[in-house]
Amino acid sequence: MTEQPTERPSTPAATWRELRRGNERFVAGAPLHPRQDVEHRTALAQRQRPLVAIFGCSDSRLSAEIIFDVGLGDAFVVRNAGQVISESVLGSLEYAVGVLGVPLILVLGHDECGAVRAAIDSQADDATPLPPHIASIVERIVPAVRRVAAAEPGHPVDPSEVDASFVGREHLRDTVAELLESSEMISDGIAAGTLAIVGANYRLVEGRAETDVVVGRI
Ligand SMILES: [Zn+2]
Repeated sequence: MTEQPTERPSTPAATWRELRRGNERFVAGAPLHPRQDVEHRTALAQRQRPLVAIFGCSDSRLSAEIIFDVGLGDAFVVRNAGQVISESVLGSLEYAVGVLGVPLILVLGHDECGAVRAAIDSQADDATPLPPHIASIVERIVPAVRRVAAAEPGHPVDPSEVDASFVGREHLRDTVAELLESSEMISDGIAAGTLAIVGANYRLVEGRAETDVVVGRI
């Protein structure tokens, strides 16, 4: 059976409810794998109308459609290591909001993130310099590291003293704040009530996306 687009949630709150239900099915080991059949694939060929834009870390364990138990055409997904904002990320998310009309942006971080770990380690006294393109990602997470470590400017950080889960959470909040500051289209959507942003932390072992920050009406 193919679900019709009219059955789909269109408000930020209903969309988040739908995603949480899907995540609960995944957590419980009872996914439905909806909208992955040939009929649905064919029906989508002419047009997409995704439920949600997901901006998450590239980590191979953070597969967006699997962990929210959604299907083809449901999620417009933007991922990079450590989910750091860039021009291409902003452009992609504005496309999802402005052209595709998604009512929700989900920013997804996770525990045991390699990019967060690298950012913490980069602040050690004896840190090995990172290759330049990796360094450009990691440096976007460094402000969260230094804040969590309460480090004085110019002083090194002892990585063993820094809680990576706190850094991950700070970085997630920074990312959501930066999204709002950098995109007028996104902040206008929030103000109008047609869009919300949820920042969530994904727990690798449990498989649960835990809500950390909400901007807009959910
Ligand atoms: Zn990661």
